[in-house]
Amino acid sequence: MHGIGPGHANARSTIIDAIRAAGVVSRTGLVAATGLTGATVSKEVRALLDEGLLVETGNAPSTGGRSQVLLQLQRSSRFAAGLHVDHDGVSLVLLDLGGAVVAEQRVQHAGAVHPQTVVDAMVVRVHDMLAGVGAPRSALLGIGVVSPGPVTPEEGIVLSRPALRDWLGFPMAERFRQASGLPVVVDNDATASAVGELWTGGARGSAAFSTLYMATGIGSGTVVDGVPYRGVSMSVGEIGHVCLDIDGPECWCGNAGCVEAIAGPGAVVVEARSAGLRIPAGEVDVVQAFGQVVTEAREHDGAARRIVRRSAEHLAAAAQTLCTMMSVDLVVLTGAAFDVAGDLYLPVVRERVARSFLAHDAGTVRVEVSAHARSAAAVGAAALVMQHTLVPRQFSTRITLEAAPGADAPPPAPHAALAPSP
Ligand SMILES: [Zn+2]
Repeated sequence: MHGIGPGHANARSTIIDAIRAAGVVSRTGLVAATGLTGATVSKEVRALLDEGLLVETGNAPSTGGRSQVLLQLQRSSRFAAGLHVDHDGVSLVLLDLGGAVVAEQRVQHAGAVHPQTVVDAMVVRVHDMLAGVGAPRSALLGIGVVSPGPVTPEEGIVLSRPALRDWLGFPMAERFRQASGLPVVVDNDATASAVGELWTGGARGSAAFSTLYMATGIGSGTVVDGVPYRGVSMSVGEIGHVCLDIDGPECWCGNAGCVEAIAGPGAVVVEARSAGLRIPAGEVDVVQAFGQVVTEAREHDGAARRIVRRSAEHLAAAAQTLCTMMSVDLVVLTGAAFDVAGDLYLPVVRERVARSFLAHDAGTVRVEVSAHARSAAAVGAAALVMQHTLVPRQFSTRITLEAAPGADAPPPAPHAALAPSP
């Protein structure tokens, strides 16, 4: 682990995060951004250079005084693995320290296999991916594991659709830690997707943003001043289970008329089938079947287009609710379902948010589709590891680097569950 961990002094973490946020920055820039003394910055930067986490990358243009050596994170010095355990399979990514996805895999139908078998197989795959990019095992910071619905480190998945029944109560944080010998972070997939945007640069310039996440299910994650909003319970951000119609269809969560039950990918597929569209069952998962409806909607002005449009209007209402409740300046549409349908949903969501006074009263609300929509949850899982291992959980100082090139949103301060490293 190279001594990197949550026990470190704040100065070190503050500097790592300021450099991540800025991209490239000088020692003088770090002093200005962090409020630390020049001596402290010099000492910590020297240690980080010695450990290989930082690299010097040329000089800033001279502004009359001495020219400044620029620093950036050494992208290939550390990696984090992210796993998304979903109803239809497991997605794996390897994220480098610069927030780039350097390897990616998908394993179908993991829900049908015993969880411990999945854990053992995934740890092997993570190490294979690491070897595949030529990195030593010592460069792996940890493994992040996310899944739909409420998740806790002790109980794992607390509430789920039937496909993940075997995972209910399975202590996945502990089992992944045992199998890998690494720190393991577990969390909800939608929350993780927001942390992923923070680390991959998708939320640059935003003070407070939400992800509207849609894969098999629908959820949201919100980050305020670089800190994921977690409320007081594990069911934070379950926008898919906000009621839009009290007389609406029953939802698997126990309520009726939820956004997800009315307009989620599963509902779209069911509606399309009853409208006569031929979507093969069995071989395809929910998001793939949803993708077939979306393709039909794109190509023909018929039932599929009407059904997808209706779904988009409900998702737009969900996005509007997010803006109204959370007062964010950015909503990122993400998740595998928005990867296949983002172009059809985006204008509908934008239009509704734009004409909503309450959603909009603090200024312009941007709505975008994530650059990592397809693998957003796995990317977010890996990003959670970066936060936990490089930035202690207590860290919540807001840093802005106005003068630095590529200045980013303020740094993250995670509160997600971290299983102790061995
Ligand atoms: Zn529900």
